[in-house]
Amino acid sequence: MTIELKNLVKTFGSFAALDGVDLKIEDGELLALLGPSGSGKTTLLRIIAGLDWPDSGGVWFDGENALARGAGERHVGFVFQHYALFRHMTVFENVAFGLRVQPRAIRKDEAAIRARVKELLDLVQLDWLANRYPSQLSGGQRQRIALARALAIAPRILLLDEPFGALDAKVRKELRRWLRTLHEEINVTSVFVTHDQEEALEVANRVVVMDKGKIEQIGTPNEVYDRPATAFVHSFIGESIVLPVNVSDGRVWVGDQALNIKPNGATPGPSQLFVRRHDMQVGPAGSGLRGSVRYVRTFGAIQRADIALAAGDGETLIEIDTPRDRELKQGDVVELQPTRFRIFSA
Ligand code: ATP
Repeated sequence: MTIELKNLVKTFGSFAALDGVDLKIEDGELLALLGPSGSGKTTLLRIIAGLDWPDSGGVWFDGENALARGAGERHVGFVFQHYALFRHMTVFENVAFGLRVQPRAIRKDEAAIRARVKELLDLVQLDWLANRYPSQLSGGQRQRIALARALAIAPRILLLDEPFGALDAKVRKELRRWLRTLHEEINVTSVFVTHDQEEALEVANRVVVMDKGKIEQIGTPNEVYDRPATAFVHSFIGESIVLPVNVSDGRVWVGDQALNIKPNGATPGPSQLFVRRHDMQVGPAGSGLRGSVRYVRTFGAIQRADIALAAGDGETLIEIDTPRDRELKQGDVVELQPTRFRIFSA
């Protein structure tokens, strides 16, 4: 099932939670909506689900106008951050619930319901918990059951709102991997909301980065990480070194030092240079950006160094990650060379 969103606007009072969102989600995608708190992710998901309505714009499922249908008619499965399992029902009955309340005309008989629940519990690898109650499960198990329950009615679309948000870091990581594998198996068009960039990059095949009700960038995890379209995306995804620069005479200046890089079409005048920590490397003499090493610590194959830059007004401290083949030590004077960078207007 494809989902197409056209120029969606949603306001609460005078506040625009969605400010003209256009997005096409392909059949079978696992798409992440990534953005800071309040960027409009949940509002967008609720509109796709039919739990909320836009002020204007369109929502199309396989070319059909979804806004003409209520939530119950859209065949959408939903998993929320807080486990919405029924506490008084066993795991088995929780998963069976959606099947039991289907209209009589399409409801399966008891044997078929039991077979389907068994299949879903196998799919989420928790068949051995069928007779437990939600209070007897771990947080991660509850979310897997919530997912099995959402899948019971064979939804055409699966929507997940911070599904692992309430879990601890280690369980989150396991479940991410698990969700990706599960998605490869079931292949249902899925949209999941997260404010955790690592989660989005690791799980999704495409990432939509949102800020203030607008889409800043749509791309594969590699694209949004390596080729951020805006200063916001660069800062929000991955750590960035940000330096005020001046572009003039076809060169990029930090204070009175010219860097050994080309401005790549950046507009002349004051700008900001964005570089990932591991893309700011210790270069040969003449690289341009001089600094002195203040502090070094080592993690596995890399060393992380605080470098005090001499350029510009006062002293600027930046943090770089470099390979250990050239050992740095406190007091070394180095010249830095960005190997990959972006320049955005200030
Ligand atoms: P979070 O990660 O914190 O859940 P989000 O990106 O999902 O954030 P939304 O929940 O979509 O953001 O909210 C977007 C904006 O719309 C927020 O500023 C929020 O306060 C506002 N908003 C959402 N729902 C309502 C509502 N029912 N009434 C008023 N304002 C609302």
